[in-house]
Amino acid sequence: MSEKTQAELLKEELFYSAQHASYTCDDGEIAVADDFCEGYKDFLNSCKTEREAVVYVKELAEKNGYIPFDPKAYYAAGDKVYADIRSKALILCTFGKKSLENGAKIVASHIDSPRLDLKPNPLYEDSQLALFKTHYYGGIKKYQWTATPLALHGVIYRRDGSCVNVCIGEDEGDPQFVVTDLLPHLDKKQANRPLGEAIEGENLNILIGSRPFGKDEGSEMVKLNIMKILNEKYGIVESDFLSAELEAVPAYKASDIGFDRSMIGSYGHDDRVCAYPSVMAEIDTVMPEFTSVTVITDKEETGSDGNTGLHSAFLKHFIADIARTQGLEGRDVLRASECLSADVNAGFDPTYPSVHDKLNAAYLNKGIVVTKYTGSRGKSGTNDASAEFMSKVRTVFDNAAVSWQTGELGKVDEGGGGTVAKYVANLGVEVVDVGVPVLSMHAPFEVVSKLDVYMAYKGFKAFLEQSN
Ligand code: MN
Ligand code: MN
Repeated sequence: MSEKTQAELLKEELFYSAQHASYTCDDGEIAVADDFCEGYKDFLNSCKTEREAVVYVKELAEKNGYIPFDPKAYYAAGDKVYADIRSKALILCTFGKKSLENGAKIVASHIDSPRLDLKPNPLYEDSQLALFKTHYYGGIKKYQWTATPLALHGVIYRRDGSCVNVCIGEDEGDPQFVVTDLLPHLDKKQANRPLGEAIEGENLNILIGSRPFGKDEGSEMVKLNIMKILNEKYGIVESDFLSAELEAVPAYKASDIGFDRSMIGSYGHDDRVCAYPSVMAEIDTVMPEFTSVTVITDKEETGSDGNTGLHSAFLKHFIADIARTQGLEGRDVLRASECLSADVNAGFDPTYPSVHDKLNAAYLNKGIVVTKYTGSRGKSGTNDASAEFMSKVRTVFDNAAVSWQTGELGKVDEGGGGTVAKYVANLGVEVVDVGVPVLSMHAPFEVVSKLDVYMAYKGFKAFLEQSN
C-alpha cells in the first residue's frame, strides 16, 4: 500500500468535494437508511394528495402523543401539539426547554405535487366517449401526462353539505383513467411543434367511459350512464362537481429503482421526500432545547398563495399563538427563529449535463442539498441565506455526521424556481433551503436516492435537536 503524497494530504485538507454518502456512512447505516425508506414508500403510496398527507400525518402524530393545539392552554417542555390548517396543511410542534424568546427551530416542506385537477364542470361526452376536462396544477411537462394510468383522489360535497371521499384507481382491480395521445402514424403536425406546445393544456382530457345507458335513443347516453354509476357509487349529481376537489394523479405505486435498489421511483417525491423525513424527525424529537415547529404546507407548486399556502398568515399566527402561551409577542419569537425550508433540488442528470454548472450542481447520493438561494436571472424572487446562518447549519450537520452538499438550481440564466423559503424569511426568520436531490423533477415518476432520504431525516433531526 502506497503512502499518500504530500500533495494528496494537502488536497484533503484544503479542497472541498462532497462524497458519495455510502463512503461516510457508519457500519449498518445503509441498512438503517433502506429500512427508513420502507416507511417512506408507504407514505408515498398512501398520500398522493395534500389532504391524504394531512390525514396520515395527523394519525401518526396522535399515536405519538400529539394533541390539538389549544391557544388558551399552558404547555411544558416536551409537550407535543398539532394545528390542522383546513385539512390541507399541518403544523406539528414540540415545546422546548428554553423559553420561546430564544426562538423556534422550524422545518417547512410542502405536500402538494403537480397533477391534473378536474374543472368545476368537468363531465362531457364526445363521439360516444365520456371525458373529464382538467386544469393542470403546478409546473408540468404536459406530454408526460398522456398515455399513463391515472387515479382519481379527492372530495365531493353534495348539495346537502355532506362529504364523500373519492379514491379510485389505486386498489388492485380498480378501474383507472387516462389522457389519450395521438398515434405516431398521424402526429406529423404535433411532432413538428416544440415539445412544450405539442400537447395543449385544454387537450388534457381524461377518458372515463364509453358505454351508453341502455338501448334508448338520445344524446349524451354515455355521459348519462357515467352519471348513473357515479350517483350509485357516491350519491352525487352533476352539479356536485362544482363543490368538489378531484385530482388526477399517476395510479402506480412507488418502487425501488436499480439492480442495487439504491433509489426510489414514485409520483410526488417533490416534496413528500422532505415532508416525510421532517415529520419523522419532529416525532423523534423528544425533549428539545428549543421549541420545534414542523410545517407541511399546501400550494407551494402554485406559488404558496391561498389560505393553506405559506404566503398566507397561518404560520405567523401559529407562532403568535404559541408565543402568547408564554406571555410573549409573536414577532419576538420570529426574530429569534431559524428555519430549514425543506424542498427538493434538481439532481445532476448525466444525460442532460448542459443545464447545470457541474461545480454547483446537486448529485444523487451525496446527501442533502444546502441551497443558499434559488430564484431566476439575477437571483430574482429568492431568499438568499446569510453566511452566518450557512455557517451555523453546516456545523449542525457536520457535528451530526449528516452527508450534505451544496447545490444551485441549474446554470445561471438557464431557468430557475422557488420554494417556501422566501415567505418564511419575509417574516424575519433566518432561512436556508435544505432538501433532497431529485431526477425527473415534476414528472409523474420522479427518482430519489434512499441514502439522501435518510440523510434528510438525520439532518432535520439534528437541526431540531440543536442546543444553541
Ligand atoms: Mn418543491
Ligand atoms: Mn416543485
